[in-house]
Amino acid sequence: MRKIAVLDKNTIDKIAAGEVVERPSSVVKELTENAIDAGATAVTVEIKDGGKTLIRITDNGAGIEKEQVPMAFVRHATSKIEKVEDLEQIVSLGFRGEALSSIAAVAQVELITKTPASITGVRYVIEGGEEKSLEEIGAPEGTTFLVHNLFYNVPARSKFLKTAATEGSYVSSLIEQLALSHPEISFKYIVNGQVKLHTSGNFSRRDVIYQIYGRDITKEILEVHYENEFLSLEGYIGKPSVSRGNRNFENYYINGRYVKNKIISKAIEDAYKGFLMQHNFPFASLQIEMTGNDLDVNVHPAKMEVRFSRGDEVYKAIYEAILQTLKKKEMIPEVRADQ
Ligand code: ADP
Ligand code: MG
Repeated sequence: MRKIAVLDKNTIDKIAAGEVVERPSSVVKELTENAIDAGATAVTVEIKDGGKTLIRITDNGAGIEKEQVPMAFVRHATSKIEKVEDLEQIVSLGFRGEALSSIAAVAQVELITKTPASITGVRYVIEGGEEKSLEEIGAPEGTTFLVHNLFYNVPARSKFLKTAATEGSYVSSLIEQLALSHPEISFKYIVNGQVKLHTSGNFSRRDVIYQIYGRDITKEILEVHYENEFLSLEGYIGKPSVSRGNRNFENYYINGRYVKNKIISKAIEDAYKGFLMQHNFPFASLQIEMTGNDLDVNVHPAKMEVRFSRGDEVYKAIYEAILQTLKKKEMIPEVRADQ
């Protein structure tokens, strides 16, 4: 046996990176969530080769002060929480301070950023966790991240990446979910130089649904409004006619965060029982808002999982909301089907 020793920082960062950064879409998720947390109203995401050789994310958010730039890449460095109690009232998508250090550990990263208060911007380059340069340059307000050659220094990881087309398709579905969960932000998504999606950021969830799913789905959706003491629900569900054989159309967001959760899926699907054939799943695009006390988002580094302190009440509320909406639809005859 070898002697017990603490791993060096570079090795620790590379191991930790594995939890946060699995593939190009994980990088896009983390950087876009940072843009959202920075208060951006417009975010452009550009990828080449499925994100394997280039990911570029530009936002018009708050930017980072020059003195703070290197600190942003330190593991567990964050501006979003200060103490563990803050987790109970978390309003940002990020809070673990792990994304930038992880991404920089396994890629070649370039950051250009400028805050409204500073006269010039900053350009910072960090590769494989090693700082290469920090200089002042002219830049627009906001932040741009360029991530080149993901896993260039971790061959074991890059081997497991799929084709550019497949990796690109993961990024595309992620961008769709981000656009659907944030209709107040204008998202532009460019793949190999071609604009694939451009949402207006006009706050209309319905408009984003139209852009992503098209006219045929949009004319078959019903608006959901529900509120009780601890949870509110807004969004759209599909009429039984637009169901599918898989859950791809069944999406929901908690406090602006795209998540997967068995309780919520079950509540939605149970409400549709009697409206849908077995093994068919409904269309849903729902925004759930609830207070941090009832919600734990710190389950996994990727934050796709959540836990509820009152899971059965979450179930009941969502079940009720969906069932009411479906029943109301049955009672009121359609005015015009071609609207
Ligand atoms: P977290 O999001 O959990 O705080 P990150 O590693 O993703 O951790 O980011 C570290 C810090 O860098 C953030 O807390 C934030 O202050 C800053 N930051 C990252 N991206 C941006 C951005 N696009 N605009 C402004 N600040 C940013
Ligand atoms: Mg983050």
